[in-house]
Amino acid sequence: MILPGATIGVLGGGQLGRMFAQAAARMGYRVHVFDPNSGCPAGEVAAKEVNAEFTDAAALAAFAAECDVVTYEFENIPVEPLRKLQPAVLLRPDPTVLWIAQNRLREKTWLKEHGIPHARFAESGQGVGIVEAARQIGMPCVVKTADFGYDGKGQRKIRTIDEAATVSAEFAGRPWVMETWVDFACEVSVVVARGGDGDVRTFPVAENVHENHILSQSIVPARIGESVAREAREIAVRIAERLELVGLIGVEMFVSPDGSVLVNEIAPRTHNSGHYTMDACTLSQFEQQVRAVCGLPLGRPELMSPAVMVNLLGDLWSRGVPPWVKVLQIDGVALHLYGKREARPGRKMGHMTVTRSNAAAARSVAADITKKLVRKD
Ligand code: AMP
Repeated sequence: MILPGATIGVLGGGQLGRMFAQAAARMGYRVHVFDPNSGCPAGEVAAKEVNAEFTDAAALAAFAAECDVVTYEFENIPVEPLRKLQPAVLLRPDPTVLWIAQNRLREKTWLKEHGIPHARFAESGQGVGIVEAARQIGMPCVVKTADFGYDGKGQRKIRTIDEAATVSAEFAGRPWVMETWVDFACEVSVVVARGGDGDVRTFPVAENVHENHILSQSIVPARIGESVAREAREIAVRIAERLELVGLIGVEMFVSPDGSVLVNEIAPRTHNSGHYTMDACTLSQFEQQVRAVCGLPLGRPELMSPAVMVNLLGDLWSRGVPPWVKVLQIDGVALHLYGKREARPGRKMGHMTVTRSNAAAARSVAADITKKLVRKD
């Protein structure tokens, strides 16, 4: 057990690392952050910030030597340099979890091998090109690059054979995965933690609304039946167990119109859709991550209030800093900003959580404040 007073290392210095560092500091830990870019959001609130590339083995070893345990807030970290740190350094989750989650081909294959429900898929390297695969899988379908995709980057929907031919030229030479298009009723996610003793705890299911492939809102409780919610949580538990996870992951899922649940993606870290837990649950996903990686007893997450989390993207800054005062005047709205100096379209700058006695009221307040933040002058 790694007790308060110890040092936790975080690889990646974005907003997830920042909120982790804040939760860990509250519990009496010191947090060191490793990120290629200086002045990163997590570095600003951490005890120490180290800037080097994730491939810099010497810098990683020096960083890890000062930490009692090392975790991640970013999945696209090369795994080989991490493996070289073991067993001298305690890495949680194990880099194998990163390795599976950072490549769609490995992730889909893993889901298939472990009997976890997912959308039917085809993959490159099997002697079948994109056009033929689209014929076999059926259209519409979606092609995604195997590596380094997030927020809809590196993916194309295919509706016709002509489109398949165009996409085939675009993806030439790159490994890909093709999935059937899921006409989902909604998208949901579950954050799940597993301790070293095998204890597994899930957070309530969040319903996720995307705009331009980027998460826009999470609504909790999700507007799904109890049995669908139970199924989503059970799937998340099964994944955590089969991965032999020690730590915390986010599981993104599609809910089909018939109520069946298909896993889309696994994120080996805290998840954007879990931010609502900071203001609406008995403990946050960040505190749970601290507990899981330090071997402390996991908390039992309970929803204290329905909530809507709204992402604040850089687009809101196009006419200057948004008028925060207008939203801060409203009760039950928590503002979280990540300290990013430059606002770019699509960049996650912060989020707000609206808590109300029912989710419909929270949704209506969320819609209202989103409008209030758009500067018209
Ligand atoms: P991803 O990068 O795989 O998380 O995909 C980003 C978003 O694209 C998802 O949240 C969905 O809204 C959409 N999407 C991805 N794959 C599919 C699919 N097979 N069927 C329908 N929508 C999809």
